[in-house]
Amino acid sequence: MGLEEKLPAGFVLTTLENVAGYMRKASIWPATFGLACCAIEMMAVGTPDYDIARFGMERFSATPRQADLMIVAGRVSQKMAPVVRQVYDQMANPKWVISMGVCASSGGMFNNYAIVQGVDHVIPVDVYLPGCPPRPEMLLNAIIELHKQIQGSKLGVNRIAAARAAEQAALSAVPTHLMPATHDHTAHLAAPAGKNLLG
Ligand code: SF4
Repeated sequence: MGLEEKLPAGFVLTTLENVAGYMRKASIWPATFGLACCAIEMMAVGTPDYDIARFGMERFSATPRQADLMIVAGRVSQKMAPVVRQVYDQMANPKWVISMGVCASSGGMFNNYAIVQGVDHVIPVDVYLPGCPPRPEMLLNAIIELHKQIQGSKLGVNRIAAARAAEQAALSAVPTHLMPATHDHTAHLAAPAGKNLLG
């Protein structure tokens, strides 16, 4: 438990949260880390066309000890999973993770024994970025969303309360297998032959 946990609640803590959030979001260094084709799009954000330097993030750290953002760019094989976890464990706290692309987020089209079906089986994820591959603009958008999360992050007693609220919300959420279907995949089977379902 660090100094943050000993901060008193109240107006001062809220002000401190705002200042700390601003400074943290404005000083992120990503780890140099790419797993597959998505990494090419990640590299593109460093080019003048996309210019990640406008966020002060162009310095991709060659060592995890000087990085606080992991962009998981590409599918995670079972063989790489322990390495991903080790790199994450070596990163400085506080640290964040963007799961870039459908493969990193859910295994994507690689529904097989060799690929981890979502990197959140290995490390906690803060932002999931869909697409195959996501465009560099989409990665920049994910980074902006992460900035918003960091700006709103809590400290001390507020952080404990936020963690309890999130846990309660997760426990009371409807399991995915009980959620109502948004689309009936069998509707076309019931339609008479030759009838256009769209009218
Ligand atoms: S999401 Fe698409 S581009 Fe990204 S790693 Fe998977 S297959 Fe490659």
